[in-house]
Amino acid sequence: MATIPENIQQVRDRIAAACASAQRDVQSVTLLAVSKTFGPDAVRQALAAGQSRFGENYVQEALDKIAALSDARARLEWHLIGPLQSNKTRPVAEHFDWVHSVDRLKIAQRLSDQRPAHLPPLQVCLQVNISGEASKSGLAPADVPAVAQAVARLPGLRLRGLMAIPEPAGDREAQRRPHRALRELLVRLQARGLDVDTLSMGMSADLEAAILEGATIVRVGTAIFGQR
Ligand SMILES: *Cc1c(COP(=O)(O)O)cnc(C)c1O
Repeated sequence: MATIPENIQQVRDRIAAACASAQRDVQSVTLLAVSKTFGPDAVRQALAAGQSRFGENYVQEALDKIAALSDARARLEWHLIGPLQSNKTRPVAEHFDWVHSVDRLKIAQRLSDQRPAHLPPLQVCLQVNISGEASKSGLAPADVPAVAQAVARLPGLRLRGLMAIPEPAGDREAQRRPHRALRELLVRLQARGLDVDTLSMGMSADLEAAILEGATIVRVGTAIFGQR
């Protein structure tokens, strides 16, 4: 089995190749290593390989990991990418740098109110249910502009853009479609004057399709840490 540093290098090579075919600067894509279900040691191995941004799905698991890695806190960036309930917003506002999974104005208001004054604004993305599956979380695309305008005004937050988890698709063309729809939605927000620049989309199986459609953050777990 390949090591975590070897896997990270492979993912970086995939990102570079996708950027080359999209004629994009490789610096325009940020790799978020999704460390959910893996322990602090795995994060340390990735950190030693130069990976500093980590995505987590479960609040309590993440808080334990952030505490276990507090000695390296200044070199780490923690991103919440999983569902967030309103009774869990306070520790998230206190300990994370980013939240990708904001799907209601109420959650955003709580995060803003609870963000400690000594920290910079919490960076947030709105999660969009881009494939329209009844069971998935995320805002309906039609609701995004109004929620974005409101979130952009919250003082404890900095609205950065949009996030989606499209339903899995086999071929590259089918993978590109939902990513393209998310990009078009971001462009609509920009046309309304919102200062947003982030498309959080693309995972182990579809990061190439996401980069071809403009992803600025790809969230990669399995290809770095192995099967969960
Ligand atoms: C688990 C997860 C990922 C990573 O998925 P892989 O297929 O393991 O790369 C990315 N985004 C979200 C929201 C996740 O929950």
